[in-house]
Amino acid sequence: MRTIVAGNWKMHTDRTTAAELVNGVVKGLEALPAQVEVVVAPPFPFLASVAEQVNGTRVLVAAQNCHEAATGAYTGEVSVGMLKSIGVGACIVGHSERRQYFGETDTAVGRKMAALLAGGITPIYCCGEVKAEREAGRHFDVVGRQIDEAFAGMDAEMIARVVVAYEPVWAIGTGLTASPEQAQEMHAFIRSALRNKVGALADTIPLLYGGSCKPDNAAGLFGQPDINGGLIGGAALDATSFVELVRLATAAKH
Ligand code: PEP
Repeated sequence: MRTIVAGNWKMHTDRTTAAELVNGVVKGLEALPAQVEVVVAPPFPFLASVAEQVNGTRVLVAAQNCHEAATGAYTGEVSVGMLKSIGVGACIVGHSERRQYFGETDTAVGRKMAALLAGGITPIYCCGEVKAEREAGRHFDVVGRQIDEAFAGMDAEMIARVVVAYEPVWAIGTGLTASPEQAQEMHAFIRSALRNKVGALADTIPLLYGGSCKPDNAAGLFGQPDINGGLIGGAALDATSFVELVRLATAAKH
């Protein structure tokens, strides 16, 4: 099974600090064995320059969003082909912030995933419940529905090329983390939901945990059998913390 540590920079950094951050990540990784896949997701304006900086290293560049159409009159949007042309290899889709602030639905996110897969870019599909849903005991229903709706219409071969990130919304940027047991329980649920769709291929789909994952809590999370790495927000903005998370994932999985 692959292990992936991905950093979501969100709307942070500028041209200079983006270059410094990725430089720090590349340098820090030199001391580690290359068993874990490392992904950074800078804001759109810095994707091309960061992709050039990591060319020839083990770091893959991801976008944080895309549009499903190939080209057209969609002011402000960015297509999969554009991303591909500058060396982007993955794309986060369905992040809770995009669902919350930009009204993205599972079906809309499903269309983006289909476009990404057709264009040869790996979707990192984010799902997860909000606090009230967990408190009401509805977290499995919510995540199960997110998986069903976003993957509707995709065949097994397509689904098997997606990376799934479970990000309980109550844990994102809040300092609250799902316990390793809570995260494992949900990851096992997601794995079985995927198994219903793609059979044994589900065992090859990396499931990342996201939500205040930091060097001081990552070992417990990465130690869980169905947690295959992390999608990291805040701690990805500090090269030392991010590289330490890669080290912890390497130690836990390889
Ligand atoms: C995220 O937004 O994908 C995330 C996991 O953020 P944080 O690590 O800051 O909670």
